Amino acid sequence: MSAKVYYSSMKCNMNQSPLNKIKKLINKCGITDIYGKNDITAVKLHFGEYGNTAFLRPVYLRPVLETLNRIGAKPFLTDTNTLYIGMRTNSVDHLHNAVLNGFGYSTLQTPIIIADGLKGESYTNLEVPNGEIYKSAKIASVIANADKLFVINHFKGHEMTGFGGAMKNLAMGCASRAGKNEMHSSVRPTVDPEKCTACGRCKMACDAGAITISKHASINDKCVGCAMCISACPKHAVDVDYNVACDTLQQKIVEYAAAVHSHFKEVVYVSVLTSIVPACDCHGGNDAPLIHDLGFMASTDPVAIDKASYDLVVKTAGKDVFQEAWPHLNPQDSFAHAKKIGFGNTEYELEIIK
Ligand code: SF4
Ligand code: SF4
Repeated sequence: MSAKVYYSSMKCNMNQSPLNKIKKLINKCGITDIYGKNDITAVKLHFGEYGNTAFLRPVYLRPVLETLNRIGAKPFLTDTNTLYIGMRTNSVDHLHNAVLNGFGYSTLQTPIIIADGLKGESYTNLEVPNGEIYKSAKIASVIANADKLFVINHFKGHEMTGFGGAMKNLAMGCASRAGKNEMHSSVRPTVDPEKCTACGRCKMACDAGAITISKHASINDKCVGCAMCISACPKHAVDVDYNVACDTLQQKIVEYAAAVHSHFKEVVYVSVLTSIVPACDCHGGNDAPLIHDLGFMASTDPVAIDKASYDLVVKTAGKDVFQEAWPHLNPQDSFAHAKKIGFGNTEYELEIIK
């Protein structure tokens, strides 16, 4: 079986807006059948870390939001707090970051809700269908509780998975802090004694009673890996060891993505193939693009849209620019695991939309 993926290139005549192309693509995906009046709809995106300039341009959300509003749905923009310390570690900084990057209400007339609570503590366990690693995934409660989900991705390279697209946005992007920790690390966080001032804030944040304080904080084996101590520390002394091998990380991402997709069953995915830089938008900076802007894809299958986007980049470049950028990993590991657990389709039919 193959999935349908719709593609429109960046090529436009002077009177043709790329935004109309996105509108055509989402209509082809059946947006008016999938989303309905009064559906509270989480529009999942990545606001980009402050300082990065490659992230999704807010203007690309206009055709999506206009269409959802015309249907009578109630869209809101959403993302989750990060595991690492940055401008998106808690909901307060995250909202500032979103506005600084152009996603404010005055621009898009759409509310923003950070999906996993003030410090990434709020999640709902969703079943992983046919999971080999997980039986359930810790997904941000606001996303899990939404009536519908719409996912818009900036397709680009990624230092730990080769590329980042729909599956990454669904998995790492919808996971709570504990979920991110469970994907990124197989061990508990550690404390850097050089940075720790023994203030005790991490201990107060730890519901598991896993932290003791003497000269500095120590984490013991009561730790359940919730990662709440990371955001609690004002000295950035707590961190995880990002020790999971890249192939295992990709498999974990696939299983988390499968949990979110199957929870909603019908989701429209849009991937924007512009500013295809080597690394994730989580960085407060970015390198030059690996290739020129390619356009937009849409599908209701997150695996197929990633495969089609990846194939288009490789075909256009005449080489695997992601593999070249990150030679230590195989960007296609995720497709192999998706196939193994029966999630989505790696086979697709690409329909070109003018
Ligand atoms: S990860 Fe969670 S359980 Fe472990 S020490 Fe930190 S706050 Fe406590
Ligand atoms: S919050 Fe940070 S600085 Fe304070 S005791 Fe914990 S690790 Fe040390």
